[in-house]
Amino acid sequence: MRILLVEDDSLLGDGLRAGLRQLGFLVDWVRDGEAAERELRTGTYAAAVLDLGLPRKDGLEVLSSLRRTGVTTPVLVLTARDAVHERIRGLDAGADDYVVKPVDLDELAARLRALVRRAHGQPLECLSAQDVVLDAAARSVRRAGELVMLSTREFDLLQAFMLSANRVLSREQLEQSLYSWGYEVESNAIEVHIHNLRRKLGAGLIHTVRGVGYMLQRDAPVA
Ligand code: CA
Repeated sequence: MRILLVEDDSLLGDGLRAGLRQLGFLVDWVRDGEAAERELRTGTYAAAVLDLGLPRKDGLEVLSSLRRTGVTTPVLVLTARDAVHERIRGLDAGADDYVVKPVDLDELAARLRALVRRAHGQPLECLSAQDVVLDAAARSVRRAGELVMLSTREFDLLQAFMLSANRVLSREQLEQSLYSWGYEVESNAIEVHIHNLRRKLGAGLIHTVRGVGYMLQRDAPVA
């Protein structure tokens, strides 16, 4: 899943980006509040990790302004260990969760996964559709109990579909959830990945909605 990291400290930002990438997240990184607000308004991100002390615009101001204008992207704030009042202000301003510095990467990743699942109305740890089960923490996929090997892109695409099961997603939306900045996307990349997913997981899982996009059907069609 694609997330926005907002952190002005180069060392910390670099470490968080590398660590989260290693755990399977697609990470775009901005270093000031104005850039954060601009990027989050695009609706491209599954979630954001937001530092509060930021140049140009304070993290709390960014958060309040986004929430006031209806941006619901889950936001996890980074706060200092002793700053209870900061956490409270963050939550009041519309943060969904927080992690204290120094950041434990596994905890941050688990909290992000939980936030994104909940934001999509999926409280369970594993996502499932028909006979396919996706475990985001283990980055594994099973079909009828059998492990299925997927490439990184195939896994990310399946996850995007499962989070929005029974909803039509356009090719642009799918591309946005799959590729970070500066990545040149081949025009038929999504089609190729979907073709592979159908081959590995069955033809009845992902439907083409002509002229609009694609939809993952959560329940198997009644025979
Ligand atoms: Ca800072």
